[in-house]
Amino acid sequence: MDAYNKLRPSTEIETCKCAFAEGLFLVDLLTDNPLHCDSCRKEVDPERLKLTVEETESVARWFSVASALYRLWLDSGEYEDYAKARLLDPNSQVNRQGLEVARVLSARIPTRLWFFHDTDDGEPTICPVCQSELDTDVKWGTGMCPKCPIQL
Ligand SMILES: [Zn+2]
Ligand SMILES: [Zn+2]
Repeated sequence: MDAYNKLRPSTEIETCKCAFAEGLFLVDLLTDNPLHCDSCRKEVDPERLKLTVEETESVARWFSVASALYRLWLDSGEYEDYAKARLLDPNSQVNRQGLEVARVLSARIPTRLWFFHDTDDGEPTICPVCQSELDTDVKWGTGMCPKCPIQL
């Protein structure tokens, strides 16, 4: 990536062009919108989903904390261990909030929270929330929990 782009607004938005978004991931792909199509993994505009103001605000609230922690972890500096611990803890505020958002949005469209894991720690095999074995028959990522709205 051109270093200048780091100080420019992200204008190159990869928008989902699927005829019908059948499911969503809540995932930070270092863009401004964490709502991604579970088929093509590109961004889905909240207006297209007809999210209410409350739903949109709750996504934004979760995302501002989730992306702050993710960036602190990526930076690998003083805050790395703190951020990683918060992102891995299924009971941390950011993950409780993310799960709640996934459940609320799922009333409208099936939504999974893309749970953090550090690839240095190996492939995840169980759900961090309920310890169920992951269903690895997935198009994106490693697997999904058969019980919780969690993807890894
Ligand atoms: Zn799509
Ligand atoms: Zn689970």
